[in-house]
Amino acid sequence: MGKIARINLTKRSIRVQEVDDELIMGYIGGRGWGAKIIWDEVPRGIDPLSTENKVVIATGPLTGVYFSGTGKTTLCAKSPLTGAYGDSNVGGRFGVELKQSGFDALVLEGVSDEPVYIAIFDGDVRIERADHLWGLGSIKTEEVLKKDLGDRSISCLTIGPAGENKVCFACVTSDFGRQAGRTGIGAVLGSKKVKAIVARGSMDIPVYDVDAMIEIAQEAYEFCFKSEAQKMWIRQGTMQLILWSNENSALPTRNMSEAVYEKAEMISGDVMEKRVKIGNHGCFCCAMPCGQLTKIKEGRFAGTIVEGPEYETAAMIGSNCALNSIEEIVKLNRVCDELGMDSISTGNVIAFAIECKRKGLLRDVNAEYGDVDGIIRLMEDIAYRRGIGDLLAQGTKKVAEKLGGEAFKIAMQIKGLEISAYESRAAPAMALAYGTCDIGAHHNRAWAITYDIKVGRTLYTPDKARWVIYLQHVRSLFDMLTCCRLPWVELSLPLRYYGRLYRAVTGINYRFKDLLNIAERVYNLTRCIWLREYPNMNSSWDYPPPRWFEEPLPSGPFKGVKLNKTEYTKLLLEYYRLRGWDENGRPTRSKLCLLYTSPSPRDLSTSRMPSSA
Ligand code: SF4
Repeated sequence: MGKIARINLTKRSIRVQEVDDELIMGYIGGRGWGAKIIWDEVPRGIDPLSTENKVVIATGPLTGVYFSGTGKTTLCAKSPLTGAYGDSNVGGRFGVELKQSGFDALVLEGVSDEPVYIAIFDGDVRIERADHLWGLGSIKTEEVLKKDLGDRSISCLTIGPAGENKVCFACVTSDFGRQAGRTGIGAVLGSKKVKAIVARGSMDIPVYDVDAMIEIAQEAYEFCFKSEAQKMWIRQGTMQLILWSNENSALPTRNMSEAVYEKAEMISGDVMEKRVKIGNHGCFCCAMPCGQLTKIKEGRFAGTIVEGPEYETAAMIGSNCALNSIEEIVKLNRVCDELGMDSISTGNVIAFAIECKRKGLLRDVNAEYGDVDGIIRLMEDIAYRRGIGDLLAQGTKKVAEKLGGEAFKIAMQIKGLEISAYESRAAPAMALAYGTCDIGAHHNRAWAITYDIKVGRTLYTPDKARWVIYLQHVRSLFDMLTCCRLPWVELSLPLRYYGRLYRAVTGINYRFKDLLNIAERVYNLTRCIWLREYPNMNSSWDYPPPRWFEEPLPSGPFKGVKLNKTEYTKLLLEYYRLRGWDENGRPTRSKLCLLYTSPSPRDLSTSRMPSSA
């Protein structure tokens, strides 16, 4: 669409900026644009919850075009959880509506002195009062906005009480139950007093070659519809991974002290399908709507409806907190969504608090493993920052730093971001992926555990480092194009489709490897943001928590296995070598210069003549 709306909340001003060629050619879109804007405009050392932080909400070149999974949006900011670069993406339709309103991206600057929401309708951007919304849950806010504006087809980004109260792992909710969960972007919106952003547009999205786009999309849809796996993804979504993960000793259990949950059968995808599933919810244009709509049919939580749970939620607030009822997980999912907290970090923090209590490291934790009421109480205490919840709202790392001693060993986080739902003591590639992820320990940048399973669970071969890097680039690229990676990951949709589609939509003649090269540039740039924030950062920051090196797995097929520190160190050094980073994990000057001058597109198509779709 060629435009970015800069919304200054302090001055209540809106400035529309043309997108320059450097962003388009050098950073593609989505997280690429977010990283570049944060690097250029967010000064080192600022408090992430202060007026100087910015939130970049960016679509990508593929958002909203005719192709499976093009409904994603990426949100980027300096993270209150890690103090460095943070981002998270969300599905649904928001990005499509934003683009059809005439904007590729929003940049939120400054801070409002009263609660507001931002309304974007067909090129018109307004800042509106939101006193009546402040205090409402994330999903409730969406309902009220749709009713007040008299339009159920608007798309919303909202925050809940956790965002308002600056819980460091507050998320941003979209379209009933989709979450930009990680790195606390919801708290940054809360600090700016932005309760919601709504968008609805009717403009055409320009496409360079519509016929080519349709041909590529049709081929890709046919490929997806032929896949047997697609049917299972529609039936259970990511919930099918509960038993897979358990069988592979990777299901986080009781604060990741174990990797096999004895009651996994009771919270599996099959149980979800039989007991609570009522339908599917997919993102824009998706060929495999993986979102599961569920409703509790009986018992004291009867009537609760949520989009979810998906695997990460069921694992982190389910097995990791030792719950054994799918209904209780659905209930906690809804509570977490309404409060507006990342369910991965929430499950991690609560399990950590319970283990700390059991070890005598933390008092006043009024919850236990398997105790649904206690966990609901704790979630609310965190969201409203009451009692012990005020401390836990800062995230696992800051709590561990405060407690000291053994707490740090059992704090399952890396660089401040809580580890997501793959226990990796018997998965060195996955452990490396977590260790080197550029937002902290998140599986989404490199789901390398499948490679561990393929080549050997306890091997530390150099190819694992190479594979992690490859995944970090490909998967980041999806967040720059902003489209869903699942058809590629789960249905084996060939990557060449995405390169062809990029060329058809933009008219820019990049090869797929040129796009990967840009993804590498952005990976290096985000590392540079970390180094700018933490000049003393070194290789020790890229290690998983001590528990994975010191405590062998207590049960399951890999009983007795733990990460080998010497071998992990060798793997990490190989990773640095392959990346062109020094032994402290710093990108070398020559590497950065090389990345800055390439790729060189064979044909810049300077006379791009978009048609409309
Ligand atoms: Fe959204 Fe799932 Fe479809 Fe991806 S596969 S676009 S997450 S519904």
